[in-house]
Amino acid sequence: MSLNSAEQALSSGRSRLTVLAGPTAVGKGTVSAYIRDTCPEVWISVSVTTRPPRPGETDGVHYRFVDDARFDQLIAADELLEWAVVHGSARYGTPREPVEKALREGRPALLEIDLQGARQVKESMPEALFVFLAPPSWEELVRRLDERGTETEEERVRRLETAVVEMAAEQEFDETVVNTEVSAAAAQLVTLMSSAASERDLT
Ligand code: 5GP
Repeated sequence: MSLNSAEQALSSGRSRLTVLAGPTAVGKGTVSAYIRDTCPEVWISVSVTTRPPRPGETDGVHYRFVDDARFDQLIAADELLEWAVVHGSARYGTPREPVEKALREGRPALLEIDLQGARQVKESMPEALFVFLAPPSWEELVRRLDERGTETEEERVRRLETAVVEMAAEQEFDETVVNTEVSAAAAQLVTLMSSAASERDLT
């Protein structure tokens, strides 16, 4: 199915939450950015994080960048659907209210989060669709991490260790999409979201 016809199926189906997770550097951010740019029907959550912005990142678009005190407040007020410390450094979380609003409005909603966060959502919203984004191979995953070159050597080692654990979690997910090429992976994800929505329509 092309991205266009998948999008039409989405807008005619009922909305459902989809959680996209997968190992570091597999391209979750790139795939979700591609969907954001090409498939406006899909609502994509903007996470809060305590990590500093990278060059080219805009507050409110890629993340909401907050300090530790603000993150603590969000947790205390139960305003996060899930949150986690990722790669042993910064905290990342999904603001609850925008997700609930998108679902109330009948929009298909997508969360791009890490494995710990996906497991928390599975506890609180087991009806969501859980999609694992996998690399074509382990070697390709390491190549992508090195190519990004944003990490120090210490961070790189920590991220690779996390990735080994994350790769082993694939069987916890409903579906796997292999990210060989971004537009094809995005189309496959949107197709899965649309078939999930149509299945719900039949029940
Ligand atoms: P990065 O710092 O490279 O943008 O993201 C690091 C990791 O944090 C990625 O694996 C990404 O999926 C994850 N992440 C981004 N937003 C969230 C979130 O709201 N919650 C959780 N649990 N993980 C997130």
